[in-house]
Amino acid sequence: MIISIASSVRFPAPEFENHTLPVMGLESYISDATLWRVLLLSIFLMISGICFHRCRSRKAMLLVCLAGLLVFGFLFKACPCPVGLFQNVADSVVNGQSISAGYLLLFTIPLASALIWGRLFCSGVCPLGAVQELISLTTIQIPNAIDRILRMLPIQVLLVSCVLAASGALYPLCYLDPYLPLFTWSFTFPFALLTIFFLIVGSFISRPFCRFVCPYGALLRFFAIFAAKPPSITNSDCINCKLCEQGCPNNAIFPPEDQTSTVLHTTGRRRLSLLVACLPLALFTGGVIGHFSAPLFAQLHPDVSLVGDLQADRQTSATRSFALTGESLARLQAHAIRAQNKISIGMSLGGMLFAACIMAELIANSRRREHDKKYSIDSGLCLCCGRCYQACPLEKIHVHGTSEHEK
Ligand code: SF4
Ligand code: SF4
Repeated sequence: MIISIASSVRFPAPEFENHTLPVMGLESYISDATLWRVLLLSIFLMISGICFHRCRSRKAMLLVCLAGLLVFGFLFKACPCPVGLFQNVADSVVNGQSISAGYLLLFTIPLASALIWGRLFCSGVCPLGAVQELISLTTIQIPNAIDRILRMLPIQVLLVSCVLAASGALYPLCYLDPYLPLFTWSFTFPFALLTIFFLIVGSFISRPFCRFVCPYGALLRFFAIFAAKPPSITNSDCINCKLCEQGCPNNAIFPPEDQTSTVLHTTGRRRLSLLVACLPLALFTGGVIGHFSAPLFAQLHPDVSLVGDLQADRQTSATRSFALTGESLARLQAHAIRAQNKISIGMSLGGMLFAACIMAELIANSRRREHDKKYSIDSGLCLCCGRCYQACPLEKIHVHGTSEHEK
């Protein structure tokens, strides 16, 4: 709402002589349909929280997931969805585009809940996540080293999407969401291929879109790292049976560290100093790569591609429409140059930020977890599916209250 109000100040309403403009109240900012979504989103998050943190039940989580799919996917057609709203927010922050309070709430409520309970949105509310959870036939574990590389991709998708949305080029996720056609029942070539690809891969690999593409997932991951009440495997003493680690298809559980290994200690410290020393070089390299990749992404901006077509004398529907408008080429070129500059600055900053994220990940991995004597969950990567609760033998004792230790 603050952004909406700020943009109305930046672009004041026209003054009419014989007409009084109605005064905007709070209710004007939140349309009824969006209010329903916000209400249902909050209710679903609360129910997911109870099922995951209190009941610790995989079956209950699957039921919430199914209900979330029916409501947010098939009833609300998955749009507007918090997953894509970061594009509206980026556009609004950079260009002062108006954004409704309802949209802002839809965007921020899941992030706030991640800050408290972890990624509950991914388990019980997000229709995209629900499709993947429910079509999963079997799970092939991706080796940890490959998984670590692939899970950096959502950050890249987030940064590029923000730059493109803020430059006025397009909202990429509206084209790249592979599950949207399932909810709107509109399959168009070549996007339907993406849907088929993710449906097939999702049957064998757990949550491929969530783990390796979703830009909102990257934001949720960041917030969930600082969760006040993060997911935890068991409150009882861990017996290090490894069943939870084997049961997690998302590589979100890490084993206890070998407390006696001195090799690990010295290698870790040396690696950490090396990484910190390389940080400025990494940021510089990221910025340079971002800067040089900008012209490629600038072609996605309609003004830039139109100028290119006009200069090359290509006949397209856009060039023919432009000729009919009578607008001057110089004005269009000025718009295109402004867009190119925005994309260039955005991509350079994005490249630096991406390099910083890679370094942060490497530094976090080289850190020694001296106090971790049992298997624990990475709250940023955990999608709150509840499979590890089902796998852990101590969990059953804890939930049913029949612990051998308590007898
Ligand atoms: S990672 Fe993205 S697509 Fe997957 S459940 Fe979370 S928000 Fe939805
Ligand atoms: S709840 Fe989290 S840690 Fe447990 S199996 Fe699911 S994703 Fe893995």
